[in-house]
Amino acid sequence: MRPNSQALKHKVPHDTEREFGGTLGAICIPIFLPLTVLFLICVSRSPEASVLQWPPPLPSQDQLWDPVAPMLLLGWITLHTLLYFMPLGKVSEGLLLRDGTRLKYPINGFHALCISGVLLMLLLGLGAPMGYLFELLVPLAVCAIAVSFVFSVYLYIRSFWAPSHALALGGNTGNLLYDFFIGRELNPRIGSFDLKYFCELRPGLIGWVVINFGMLMKEVELRGSPSLAMILVNGFQLLYVADALWNEEAVLSTMDIVHDGFGFMLVFGDLAWVPFTYGLQAAFLVVHPQALTSLRAAAIIALNGAGYYIFRKSNSQKNQFRRDPSHPTVARLETIATATGKWLLVSGWWGFVRHPNYLGDLLMALAWSLPCGFSHLLPYFYVIYFTVLLIHREDRDERQCRAKYGLAWDTYCRRVPYRIFPYIY
Ligand code: NDP
Repeated sequence: MRPNSQALKHKVPHDTEREFGGTLGAICIPIFLPLTVLFLICVSRSPEASVLQWPPPLPSQDQLWDPVAPMLLLGWITLHTLLYFMPLGKVSEGLLLRDGTRLKYPINGFHALCISGVLLMLLLGLGAPMGYLFELLVPLAVCAIAVSFVFSVYLYIRSFWAPSHALALGGNTGNLLYDFFIGRELNPRIGSFDLKYFCELRPGLIGWVVINFGMLMKEVELRGSPSLAMILVNGFQLLYVADALWNEEAVLSTMDIVHDGFGFMLVFGDLAWVPFTYGLQAAFLVVHPQALTSLRAAAIIALNGAGYYIFRKSNSQKNQFRRDPSHPTVARLETIATATGKWLLVSGWWGFVRHPNYLGDLLMALAWSLPCGFSHLLPYFYVIYFTVLLIHREDRDERQCRAKYGLAWDTYCRRVPYRIFPYIY
């Protein structure tokens, strides 16, 4: 096939309209974020655990590298590639593409999680030193960052052989750095292996809970048993990952799959950022044990439960409504019509705030940090970062919805004035 060096027949966004700070963002973010990952891991394990400490606790050269790390990482990615092709679960179709076709996706991520869990228990039974993951965190993160760069270069180069209808609308500006960062091709595949869908929920997300488990085992090595705080962090985050994989089909209609190209931003997010920064609390707890009273633990569990309830109910309500608006669980909800023929919910969870799912997600994020006490800011990194991410994501989504639905979106905004936090934002 001829390389598609021709621009798509659509308006190429000007630098000021580009996302994540345009070209400048595309240069700075791939430098700054990998360094942030390494910095945060090192800080979380240092005695001070202070993001402001000077000089920062930089790793020595031999702490950056361990030959076990690349073997473990590549073995893990290979295992999940094999599990992707398991003939378990159903096969679902994605949303309609610009060329009028739909792609097929295996829905077996939850099976992959369960099989990973069984394998992990087997390894533990065989005496594998799971706590060694604590020492391996930095070398593993270095390898994941290196894999992200190499993989993104591959994705960028191969995108020039994709047909123009297979390119993401926002990722084909002709600016090498920006397109590399934001992603040119929408759904890059090798045969039936969908690279973006695979990376979204499998090696990184399941890797995150395995790393957490390694931190728990390190605590067992050091203190004989896991602390309540560590059990809560592991339990909450496992619930979140299991939920995402149980509802794997829902990812097919998310912005990441439907709208964004597959470039460095998503690759790095999926393979390095999520597994190595979302569970910082567990790494922190290994070095900074926290006493937790039953009452405080109960309050934190209640907060996580409330967040999970709002998150799950609102996501399910919208997914059900988008799949079948006449379904009894959503048929009685109030809606407004849009010029596209689609409807918008204005009652139920989506009449409470315009992104109730983000509200639930943020309540859970807070519950993941609270077991680490109030002495340090670092364990609150996730909830702070996630608030910024979801406010930015909400803004991106609003702009896309306003462009799609025009006046109907304005009516929705008048009916439901708050974006994420009722009476606040
Ligand atoms: P959302 O599930 O919030 O979907 C947004 C889309 O929903 C809009 O583009 C629109 O699409 C539709 N929509 C918006 N308002 C209405 C309405 N009133 N009625 C019907 N449809 C409406 O997208 P995300 O992908 O951002 O989030 C999915 C989940 O993933 C969330 O729970 C979020 O918290 C979570 N998430 C987690 C991240 C993490 O790192 N842990 C990162 C990002 C998200 P359309 O009209 O075209 O259907």
